[in-house]
Amino acid sequence: MPHRVTLIPGDGIGPEIAAAAVTVLDATGVAIEWTTVDAGEAQLAAQGTPLPESVLDSIRDTGVALKGPITTPIGEGFRSVNVTLRQALDLYANLRPARSMAGVEGRYTDVDLVIVRENTEDLYAGIEHMVGPDAAESIKIITRAASERIARFAFDYAVHNGRRKVTAVHKANIMKLSDGLFLESCRTVAADYAGRIEFEDRIVDNMCMQLVQKPELYDVLVLPNLYGDIVSDLAAGLVGGLGVAPGANIGTRAAVFEPVHGSAPKYAGLDVANPTALILSGALMLRHLGETAAAGRVEEAVREVIAEGRTVPRDLGGEAGTRAFGAAVAGRVTRVMAAT
Ligand code: NAD
Repeated sequence: MPHRVTLIPGDGIGPEIAAAAVTVLDATGVAIEWTTVDAGEAQLAAQGTPLPESVLDSIRDTGVALKGPITTPIGEGFRSVNVTLRQALDLYANLRPARSMAGVEGRYTDVDLVIVRENTEDLYAGIEHMVGPDAAESIKIITRAASERIARFAFDYAVHNGRRKVTAVHKANIMKLSDGLFLESCRTVAADYAGRIEFEDRIVDNMCMQLVQKPELYDVLVLPNLYGDIVSDLAAGLVGGLGVAPGANIGTRAAVFEPVHGSAPKYAGLDVANPTALILSGALMLRHLGETAAAGRVEEAVREVIAEGRTVPRDLGGEAGTRAFGAAVAGRVTRVMAAT
């Protein structure tokens, strides 16, 4: 039976990088039945919403989506498509691996981090109000249920992906109740994995300094929403920036895989965008679908093609167009398969 996947090409450079990613993923030989649905600017113009209900229905039906970036409509009255997707599908875990790549300029050569961010609460619950005309208040929500759920996700990810350690990141020395509850929840879950996965915790400011100075000491990090948002971009910056940063939003019934970067409208239609982040998001999707060997082949193919330096996207200092780079990676995937 083929895997059924919803494909949302998205806006701007989205359709071009999605075409490149599909070429690469199909080259693995894994049978995928793609259902392409549109979200974004064209739907906003045609249907009055960038995220028609039919897109959500398709993801609910297939359970898995590969998504290009979507331009956030300017003006009042529209919620971000990404926030709506996360809430409507309860995509509670945001997964952001950050791994150094030969040929991609970065501060270090040996970074291999996985950032697991709680996606549903904290200061991002959106509960804020004015207290009179000159003061505003935002409410930070941390629950035991959501904290234990994200901690369990991080430990399960570590077990299934051969990782050795989970570090919980918090500010429990100051926010003793909210971040204290997050830390306590992580400790509770960690006890279930004792002897299999190491556990430690770090205060978030110290964690940022350590990541900049000694990133090789860390493995899987688990964080509440706000710190996770910031630290995952810090980690992407350590390994070469957003052009190569894949991501996933995962829930119990659905998962959406997407690059971290936006729709880069100035490059739309020019065949110059780098499809690496979406291709690597596709590799995360293959792993989620249980296609571990194919996922590894895609990641290796991307790394080899970039390291060789002959077909390198422009933002990484080369001259290859989106299509040419996708074709080179797909060709490498096919060759690796023929050899094994
Ligand atoms: P952006 O990521 O689109 O662009 C930032 C810079 O990086 C630009 O110089 C851009 O040209 C470059 N860039 C980004 N991706 C690239 C790629 N794959 N190859 C080569 N260069 C690349 O961020 P932005 O300009 O702030 O946002 C543009 C639009 O995208 C906005 O409407 C924003 O709301 C939206 N956005 C969407 C998502 C998403 O759907 N997940 C994420 C971020 C931004």
